[in-house]
Amino acid sequence: MYAHVQAKTTEKLKIYAVISYGLSSNTYIIESRDEKAIIDIGYGPPHSNINETLNIFKIDIKDIKKILITHRHRDHTRELKKFIYENEEAKIYIHKNDRDVVVESLKIDKDRVQTLYGDEEISIGEIKIKAIHTPGHTSGSLCFKHEENIFTGDLVFANGLYGRTDLPTGNQKELTRSLEKLLKLDVDSMFPGHGEITLKDAKSHIKLAWKNALRDLTSKQN
Ligand SMILES: [Zn+2]
Repeated sequence: MYAHVQAKTTEKLKIYAVISYGLSSNTYIIESRDEKAIIDIGYGPPHSNINETLNIFKIDIKDIKKILITHRHRDHTRELKKFIYENEEAKIYIHKNDRDVVVESLKIDKDRVQTLYGDEEISIGEIKIKAIHTPGHTSGSLCFKHEENIFTGDLVFANGLYGRTDLPTGNQKELTRSLEKLLKLDVDSMFPGHGEITLKDAKSHIKLAWKNALRDLTSKQN
């Protein structure tokens, strides 16, 4: 139950996407020059399959140099377990607060992991992707931004939906604040962790999600 699309092409980069409607997250592959990185690798079979994805896009697994993880949940990370045996070079980038759960549960060698705190710039070919700490869905949730493109994980989805906050380390107040942080950024295309991509006017979707989150926060406090 997933669709493979070449989502966006500019002079500097290509974004390939696996849009998942099942129990796996979306997966994005960013290519700049000959370097490639994955944002969220997904759950793995039967809900997604990174080998199949790379085949469809005609990408050699050895060309993947970096894996950026938006947050700890298994629907975004579980396929790492298989991937790290087939590609022994790629580094895994994850926020400090979400790192240990992922490393321990998937038995990942610690020296393959690069710890993020927010505000780092990660280079892929000729571009740099900025990590932005946006807690709320989990305490270590990150968004990744390059120019007008933002990868939002489970913080915010299309049409004013936002990530649940009832799982461990979730926090509605922090999530609302993280959405406010996003509203200050100059972004136009949104690539969320689930569901459809918004290529234009992402801000209006984020603004609606912020209003919804704020409304739900206020109703919880009353
Ligand atoms: Zn999640």
